Amino acid sequence: MKFLLLVALFLAVFWLLRKARAARSAERSPRPARAPERMVKCAYCGVNQPVSESILTHGRYYCCSAHRLEAESRDG
Ligand SMILES: [Zn+2]
Repeated sequence: MKFLLLVALFLAVFWLLRKARAARSAERSPRPARAPERMVKCAYCGVNQPVSESILTHGRYYCCSAHRLEAESRDG
């Protein structure tokens, strides 16, 4: 009778371990983490924004084409 109890206990532990491992692998696999995008400052107004949304001209970033034109006309 003691032996049966041990077997039941063993099975319970085995089942719990399997469940825990399945939960962990489900946690690991989900959507790929998006890397935080680099932020740049508009050379005209100084607003911070993602580099993909800014305009790069002559090594300077601008938040919009209007500010790029403003800065270029201001600089001559
Ligand atoms: Zn700007």
